[in-house]
Amino acid sequence: MKRIFSGVKPTGHLTLGNYIGAVRKWVEEDQHRADALFCVVDLHALTVDHDPARLRRLSRQAASLLLAAGLDPERCVLFVQSHVDEHARLSYLLECTATDGEMRRMVQYKEKAARERERGGSVRLSLLTYPVLMAADILAYGTDEVPVGDDQTQHVELTRDLAVRFNQRYGHTFTVPRATHPAVGARVMNLQDPSVKMGKSDDTGPGIVYLLDEPDTVRRKVMRAVTDSGRDVVYDREGRPGLANLLDVLAVSTGAGDPAELAAGYSSYGALKRDVADAVVELLRPVRERHAELVADPAYVDGVLRAGAERARALARPVVDRAYRAVGL
Ligand code: ADP
Repeated sequence: MKRIFSGVKPTGHLTLGNYIGAVRKWVEEDQHRADALFCVVDLHALTVDHDPARLRRLSRQAASLLLAAGLDPERCVLFVQSHVDEHARLSYLLECTATDGEMRRMVQYKEKAARERERGGSVRLSLLTYPVLMAADILAYGTDEVPVGDDQTQHVELTRDLAVRFNQRYGHTFTVPRATHPAVGARVMNLQDPSVKMGKSDDTGPGIVYLLDEPDTVRRKVMRAVTDSGRDVVYDREGRPGLANLLDVLAVSTGAGDPAELAAGYSSYGALKRDVADAVVELLRPVRERHAELVADPAYVDGVLRAGAERARALARPVVDRAYRAVGL
């Protein structure tokens, strides 16, 4: 059976981008076809300015949302990264495998560091080394596949490079993983600025649909989405990115498949936006409802995370021990 690993960062509330680009596929496909682990990667949330109480709250909320979205603890392992020491242990060995040059080339680092400096802030060293920790998350489990949105492709490529380099230097230790993406919706764009992705860590609220947004809020955000001055509805990701984004979201939310075919059924932006709003409201409704039930049952969520961490630890420990032996420790 294939081993799958993926995660979400508790740096903010989960978004429609996280859901469409990653979580939906984990729920509908990955947990059924593979030996899958899903992780709330809380150590990664320390790479930027953070508030301890908020981080704790968001980690818990992320875990509850993943359960609410349909991850089934009988079918997959759900856990919190910091509950399993092996991630940090392995990360150090991989820091001794990666080079500073390849870390500085990471696009996300360059963008996030530039944003941080623009705000007059300083950049945590961990923002630079973040992809190494992500490589450790993946390699500690002998992962074959990493189901992620498009934005993580470069990080998974780095993970592959590190695995190959380590294996060449010290003997075969790690499985070399590959990224997988959903056919449609691998990059959901911000509704107010379709040139940037809908990311929970950005502060452009009106362009981001959160999984826990009330139906009225979802409708308002979708109806105000930036499109362009054209009138006809066509699917053109380069020339009409705002429109293409809405069509992608509609295709995924309704299970219609091909966004280009959907375009043919619309003669106005208004009608399209109304259908997108309805479809997203319906897509998120069961997740919000189940989340409310889980909030009322914290002991259940705690139990799932405790059992998940135990199972994860048992899988990671032998791999990480082997890596330590391989380097001569
Ligand atoms: P964020 O950028 O929202 O903080 P994370 O780093 O926690 O996201 O990523 C969780 C998963 O969601 C990853 O697989 C990532 O590729 C995916 N993802 C994040 N934003 C989007 C988006 N706008 N469109 C598609 N997938 C996304």
